[in-house]
Amino acid sequence: MIKEILKNLAGRKNAIAIPDLLTMPSSEAPNFVNLHKSVDRIFCRSLRIRLVDAGSCNACEWECTALTNPIYDIQRFGIDFVASPRHADVLLGTGPVSRQMELALKKTYLAIPEPRLVIACGDCAIDGGIYRGSYAVANGVANVIPVDCYIPGCPPTPMQIISGILRLIESLH
Ligand code: SF4
Repeated sequence: MIKEILKNLAGRKNAIAIPDLLTMPSSEAPNFVNLHKSVDRIFCRSLRIRLVDAGSCNACEWECTALTNPIYDIQRFGIDFVASPRHADVLLGTGPVSRQMELALKKTYLAIPEPRLVIACGDCAIDGGIYRGSYAVANGVANVIPVDCYIPGCPPTPMQIISGILRLIESLH
């Protein structure tokens, strides 16, 4: 049904672009049923994410923001972004971790109640990306706090981010 809705939208003048769900090979598309069931079972229907922009170019944040729009709508799975790390289960870090953000990233991580999980989202967050080797960055989230899941891409698409979250949840089984 969602495919039909998206096709109808795409057929309209000035319609939004068809998200990559329709162009993704089925083997790579996230299994939404599993995602919903896993959030229900493991996180009691509520998985909360604190996003920390650790010096990104902002494109990764835009893709994360798209997760809550009516197309991707991750809130229907019980997943949402929160402002306070005290309310979060997961820290999602973007950017290469600029030296100015290093302490803030550590403090945010420590403020999340245990057991906490960390996602490094985007090539910069994985190893510094295009900023790698600069004196001004820590070359990725894992050099500052422990990382449980990596989502590559520059920036990763919303579908790739959803797949990464699902991968992380499934690794907890
Ligand atoms: S991975 Fe790409 S899009 Fe994301 S912060 Fe780095 S340069 Fe920007």
